[in-house]
Amino acid sequence: MSNAKAYSAASATAKLASTTIPRRAPTPRDVAIEILYCGVCHSDLHTVRDEWHSVMPTTYPCVPGHEIVGRVVQVGSAVTGHKAGDLVGVGCLVDSDQSCPSCQANVEQFCPGATFTYNSPDQHGTAPVTYGGYSESIVVDEHFVLTVPKNLELAGVAPLLCAGITTWSPMRRWGELKGKKVGVVGLGGLGHMGVKFARAFGAHVAVFTTSPGKKADALRLGADEVILSTKPEEMQKHAGSFDFILDTIAADHDINAYLQMLGLDGNLTLVGAPEKPLPVLSFALLSGRKSLSGSLIGGIKETQEMLDFCGKHNITSDVEVIPIQQINQAYERLLKSDVKYRFSIDMASLKAE
Ligand code: NAP
Ligand code: ZN
Repeated sequence: MSNAKAYSAASATAKLASTTIPRRAPTPRDVAIEILYCGVCHSDLHTVRDEWHSVMPTTYPCVPGHEIVGRVVQVGSAVTGHKAGDLVGVGCLVDSDQSCPSCQANVEQFCPGATFTYNSPDQHGTAPVTYGGYSESIVVDEHFVLTVPKNLELAGVAPLLCAGITTWSPMRRWGELKGKKVGVVGLGGLGHMGVKFARAFGAHVAVFTTSPGKKADALRLGADEVILSTKPEEMQKHAGSFDFILDTIAADHDINAYLQMLGLDGNLTLVGAPEKPLPVLSFALLSGRKSLSGSLIGGIKETQEMLDFCGKHNITSDVEVIPIQQINQAYERLLKSDVKYRFSIDMASLKAE
């Protein structure tokens, strides 16, 4: 065991603060990683503030962070896929049983033994729960360690590990998006990656936003049109016209307004995970035979495919790089939808603690 510098929250109302956490000594299957950047996902904020209490109560202290990019410092004797010096990524998963039907189908996120990168019971007993990437280092089973393309800027790669795969996976599963009308609801961390991928897949992309100030950025990021969801007349123009809509909103909202944007057999996939239930009008689904579904991150194999695609097409997240000391202000800005378009923590800043 060794100690690592980190930032943690002591309770749902406490600010994140500097701390020290244990990291296990690498087992034969493990990769020890020095963390260079960690993205700030809205899920970090939901978890720190225990907003998902009814589904996944938070155990404190909580060290969030599941958009990790770093350099391998040491590997266990049985590790074949990575070596010291390699650039690697770790997303939302760090363990699973690797034998159940979900693991065999490469959807480890649905394994009954799936261990998330933070706030999951720690299979190795290092601490009561796993501690995430707001830290100088992490030790991870090699199956959950991704290879990062060498040509990409690392601060912008980190968010691919969650925001990237979470938007990639449902769009890939939907099928051929070329020429289809795709809506992305909410231009934040997930939303801006959704726009980039939908564009790369050849879709006609529309962004639904509540922020008039994001219009120009949405177009620059690859949208063909931008709809201000607060303006009923703008919404009305697009009613019944979408094939697929990805809803990334982190807060309470009227989902029926977006279901009404779908055409015949259209699908709305929820990836946003607001604290409160979203009431659905049955007629918003019945007329037009529409479907509503959800999607949770992605498996390790498809995460690697997404990273390789990003390397080939030079896709990264648009980031604001911050020192860890600004994390509490960053959370306040996330709540105001004021991030362009992902905070990425430069973990070198932790050395000052
Ligand atoms: P984010 O960066 O805060 O972006 C959310 C965006 O939603 C905001 O930028 C804003 O976009 C819009 N929004 C916020 N409040 C709104 C409101 N009251 N009404 C309408 N729109 C609103 O968050 P994120 O990191 O992308 O995460 C988004 C959600 O996805 C979170 O709930 C997160 O926990 C969840 N998530 C799910 C998965 C999964 O596997 N399913 C993975 C990661 C994250 P505009 O300014 O454009 O309106
Ligand atoms: Zn996330």
